[in-house]
Amino acid sequence: MKILVVDDSETLRVQLKKDLEAGGYQVLEGFDGIHGLDLIKKNKDIRLIICDVNMPRMDGLTMCQKVHELPESKAIPILMMTTESSPEMKAHGKAAGVLAWITKPYVSEKLISVIGKIIK
Ligand SMILES: [Mg+2]
Repeated sequence: MKILVVDDSETLRVQLKKDLEAGGYQVLEGFDGIHGLDLIKKNKDIRLIICDVNMPRMDGLTMCQKVHELPESKAIPILMMTTESSPEMKAHGKAAGVLAWITKPYVSEKLISVIGKIIK
């Protein structure tokens, strides 16, 4: 099953890719919201998106909103992964269709378990 990871930190993408692949998932990497959106349009088999909030060009919440505006991608679950998790930010996320928040640094076993519950 294919997971899209969108984060401007290469270090985090490398780490996440390693952990997700160890969990049996295929991983696509996007470096900002615009790149992520492009990958979503080109890969119709993405089952889950893990997305950072703060990124250049297009932030994660804007990307999330756009993903849910597209009929072909609106059902893809999105997890936000960020150091920021203020109530205001979470309210924005909820409005944009964010399913869950994961705080950095994440715990690998926990993340894999959460993902397994979302996409069986
Ligand atoms: Mg960032």
